Amino acid sequence: MDESAITTFDAPFSQRPVVILGAGIIGCATARQLLLHGFSVVLVAEYLPGDQNIYYASAWAGAAWHAAGGITPDQRYFQAVTHRVLLKMAQDDPKSGVSVVDAREYLEQEPKPDSAIWGKTVVSKFRELKPGEYPSEFNCAWAYETLVTDPTRHMPYLGKLVISLGGRFIRKRVESLRELYDMFPESQVFINASGLGSKTLTDVQDDRCFPERGQNVFLRTDRCHTLYFRNGKEYTYVIPRPFSQGVVLGGVKQQDNLSPDVDMDIVRDEIARAHRLAPDIVPEQPAAHELSHIIGIRPSRKGGFRLHSEQVHGSRTVLSAYGFGGGGYAFSYGIADALVKMVEKTERENVIV
Ligand SMILES: Cc1cc2nc3c(=O)[nH]c(=O)nc-3n(C[C@H](O)[C@H](O)[C@H](O)COP(=O)(O)OP(=O)(O)OC[C@H]3O[C@@H](n4cnc5c(N)ncnc54)[C@H](O)[C@@H]3O)c2cc1C
Repeated sequence: MDESAITTFDAPFSQRPVVILGAGIIGCATARQLLLHGFSVVLVAEYLPGDQNIYYASAWAGAAWHAAGGITPDQRYFQAVTHRVLLKMAQDDPKSGVSVVDAREYLEQEPKPDSAIWGKTVVSKFRELKPGEYPSEFNCAWAYETLVTDPTRHMPYLGKLVISLGGRFIRKRVESLRELYDMFPESQVFINASGLGSKTLTDVQDDRCFPERGQNVFLRTDRCHTLYFRNGKEYTYVIPRPFSQGVVLGGVKQQDNLSPDVDMDIVRDEIARAHRLAPDIVPEQPAAHELSHIIGIRPSRKGGFRLHSEQVHGSRTVLSAYGFGGGGYAFSYGIADALVKMVEKTERENVIV
């Protein structure tokens, strides 16, 4: 390492916190993982666990673990690590809001080699269904066990866990990463987990980021132990939330739509699609008092999420982890794991001179 690039800091190495901008699932999962590895952590964010603003995507997710198609081997591994962490939470800690559920996935077309089929190496009890076991309009179908995370439980749980491990939250909106450098002059490692915030932070302004509105229906029912997913041109799911005694019906993706209002045409369409997919769970006309609505803005990014390390002003490192669109929960703990390794690499360079 070039000695001229080394800055002497007053605070000892072990007392300089890693600073995370953003307290959604990505920021909080990363904080948990760093704290478990002995790092000191501070999270700065406008919205914190337990908040319910449409721009705080983590409050509104489905949130099912579903293998994504068309992703790289590294990205598959991030999902696999997430599955491992969530499974342990489901087994050990009901307060986490994570449950194991049955899944049935119906495919409109024969799966391509880079499709979601790779997920069969990760999930339990995977089997291909035989014709007659699934509706005849589909090409093929799979059954397996997967994980669903109830964000109304998981985010508050994770927030408390981070505090109990010694992490600190600061509620604050910032306009730039530079504001954080001024707030924490001793810190060398900064993680940008600001989701859609990366579009407007003055020293990030990532113009690949864009908002993608989701609007789901929550149906109260005790038939909440099987996930249905239609894989193909029509994007429809029924995601169980056993801890909240209901199912989430979706979905829609509306680019650049920021409306906080319930669109009743979408509600009717989602109920109709969900009824066709899972008629044993979703009645054709559910009673109004059994329905409520979920609206959230996904932090999407053209070309996929950004996971990246860069040096700024010589002595600081910014690790970026944002743009997870509709998959932030499925990637979360794997990304957190990768960020811990990136932080360790940076800190090694900071210490071994
Ligand atoms: C309807 C819906 C259904 C979904 N279903 C699923 C699913 O089934 N499975 C799945 O994996 N994912 C799902 N998702 C996607 C998932 O919710 C997101 O990918 C994930 O929550 C993104 O997490 P994040 O931490 O990156 O962003 P966010 O949760 O949006 O958090 C961003 C954080 O950064 C902070 N921040 C941003 N800018 C600033 C600033 N300038 N100053 C201070 N703080 C700032 C915010 O306050 C917040 O704390 C769904 C999303 C929606 C809306």
